[in-house]
Amino acid sequence: LVLALNEEIDVLDHGFVKLKAFHGDDLSVINAARVSFATEHETMLQGDDKLIAFLMRERHGTPFEHNSFTFHVKAPIFVVREWMRHRIASYNELSGRYKTFENPCFYVPVKSWRQQVPDTKPGAYKYEDYQGNKDLLNEVVINFNSDCVAMYHYLLGRGVAREQARLVLPLSLYTEFYFTVNARSLMNFLSLRNHEQAQYEIREYAIVLEELWSEEMPVTAHAFRENGRVAP
Ligand SMILES: Cc1cc2nc3c(=O)[nH]c(=O)nc-3n(C[C@H](O)[C@H](O)[C@H](O)COP(=O)(O)OP(=O)(O)OC[C@H]3O[C@@H](n4cnc5c(N)ncnc54)[C@H](O)[C@@H]3O)c2cc1C
Repeated sequence: LVLALNEEIDVLDHGFVKLKAFHGDDLSVINAARVSFATEHETMLQGDDKLIAFLMRERHGTPFEHNSFTFHVKAPIFVVREWMRHRIASYNELSGRYKTFENPCFYVPVKSWRQQVPDTKPGAYKYEDYQGNKDLLNEVVINFNSDCVAMYHYLLGRGVAREQARLVLPLSLYTEFYFTVNARSLMNFLSLRNHEQAQYEIREYAIVLEELWSEEMPVTAHAFRENGRVAP
């Protein structure tokens, strides 16, 4: 990936991540730390990577907060429910009260249906490919989604308010939101969501976020990975 503002990076079947804006870089971490000694630099100096590694390792987290990344995201509602549990960020989301879903789209894991594994449990989640007929699942779910859309438009046609007509749309419905976050909180997000125990679908987004962020703060991202992906 080469960081490109406003470029849509596809995720899942209809989703995307788009970096809308950012400010701050590795140097902002260094200068925030060095303000303790009333010094400031225009560029990264030799050894600054070691200072960042030290801050990361010792969990001196606040120097990693003087930056900001704004992403525009399109994701299914069930992914967004997990995402918005991350409180140290700012969010704004598309409104189903104010806007009619003209052509709503839904996530269908066409090739990636998974089997319910009997002894799976929190902290030891297991993923296994679905053993049955995926084509059948796809057909049933796509038909169900079509019925939901028909019902949605039926309710709207009967004069039901948008805010209630949407009740018949499933959790796989795609929504859009803005997500603004600093590197410290983003690292917390990535440590939990770009992780093998995270649900596959949110992890697909976290992978893209990590790639975009790493391009802008490569020394910090390297230190994060070297430190066992623990947010400072
Ligand atoms: C694999 C996985 C499974 C999960 N399963 C469930 C589940 O079954 N049920 C469920 O409800 N949630 C579940 N969650 C969500 C999880 O409990 C967190 O709500 C979510 O990961 C956000 O993490 P966070 O609080 O660290 O992030 P943020 O809300 O962004 O907070 C960042 C950090 O700020 C600090 N902080 C924020 N708010 C407070 C506060 N009020 N008090 C003290 N410190 C604060 C903490 O240090 C926190 O780590 C799951 C998450 C994962 C990754």
